Amino acid sequence: MFSAHLRVSDAAHSARVLQEATDALRTRFDVYFSTLQVEQECLDEQAASDIDITRTPPAQG
Ligand SMILES: [Zn+2]
Repeated sequence: MFSAHLRVSDAAHSARVLQEATDALRTRFDVYFSTLQVEQECLDEQAASDIDITRTPPAQG
């Protein structure tokens, strides 16, 4: 089970990005059940950035 938001800058590419992400999850990671949301703007930006694994964690205070 996998869930994610995919941000694309150009909505014209949404369908292709969704297809490629779905294919990559299956072929590269053996994930067969995924819920992917394609968006240009995240409506939960603050919460999303808190768990964005591509970002460097903030320095601990
Ligand atoms: Zn989002």
